[in-house]
Amino acid sequence: LPQSLFSFFLLTLMGLAFGTIYQNLRRQHRLTELKNDFISNVTHELKTPIATVSVAIEALQNFGVSQNPEQTKEYLEISKSELNRLALLVDKVLKMATFEQQGLSLSPETVDWSEIIRLVLNSMRLQFEKYGATVHFEKSGETFMLSADKIHLTNVVYNLLDNALKYTEAQPHISLLLKETDADIRLSVSDNGIGIPSEFQRKIFDKFFRVPTGDTHDVKGYGLGLSYVSSVVTQHRGRIEVESEVGKGSSFTIIIPKP
Ligand code: ADP
Repeated sequence: LPQSLFSFFLLTLMGLAFGTIYQNLRRQHRLTELKNDFISNVTHELKTPIATVSVAIEALQNFGVSQNPEQTKEYLEISKSELNRLALLVDKVLKMATFEQQGLSLSPETVDWSEIIRLVLNSMRLQFEKYGATVHFEKSGETFMLSADKIHLTNVVYNLLDNALKYTEAQPHISLLLKETDADIRLSVSDNGIGIPSEFQRKIFDKFFRVPTGDTHDVKGYGLGLSYVSSVVTQHRGRIEVESEVGKGSSFTIIIPKP
């Protein structure tokens, strides 16, 4: 009997070990697939401005610049704005690569959460206009002071608002609620967008994950925003929660403990 018990334990242990190895391999495989998607998306986006600028230069060479000053001006404008876009894109990719390699490094200071939000809302004015969005910001509490990294928190708010604008089909109505409780300060960003099916609500925080929508809602992105948001929040000893209903909207809440 002791021998069969021993074999039983050994087999169980081996089973567990193989199970873990298999799961790790699957996770690695999925991550590789997502990374490949990411690379092909980025490559595609890098190629488009390059192609546009090449066509513009070719046209300038062909039609004789001095005879067509108006068209020359237009082609130069297009090239300039495409090159700007390219520069921003390259910058973004470099930032992501640094974040991948070094992780986040925080420089905490005493910050006023409500002031950060006010500044982000102000800097996104044009984007809100472009989408015809309405934005409401409500506060409940006395003080919204935190010990936090200003730049990363600013990026967090920006990412959540950017998503709230991107993932909508109708006119976006966005509301922000900043609330102080005894233990923490919470910021909720709610939208009336396309929503997130419940089976994906945990996955959206994974690196490179994007909700598959087929052709119905074609929005560009790399699936990195929320993974960044979630690591910033965790580094501040906080957590992020999502509530969402398909076709109704989503609400993301960031909870950061008081100092
Ligand atoms: P990206 O927007 O670049 O794809 P994110 O990491 O910010 O990357 O978001 C991951 C995915 O979560 C998005 O692709 C989208 O499918 C979903 N998502 C994020 N925010 C929202 C939102 N407010 N409403 C609906 N879906 C969202």
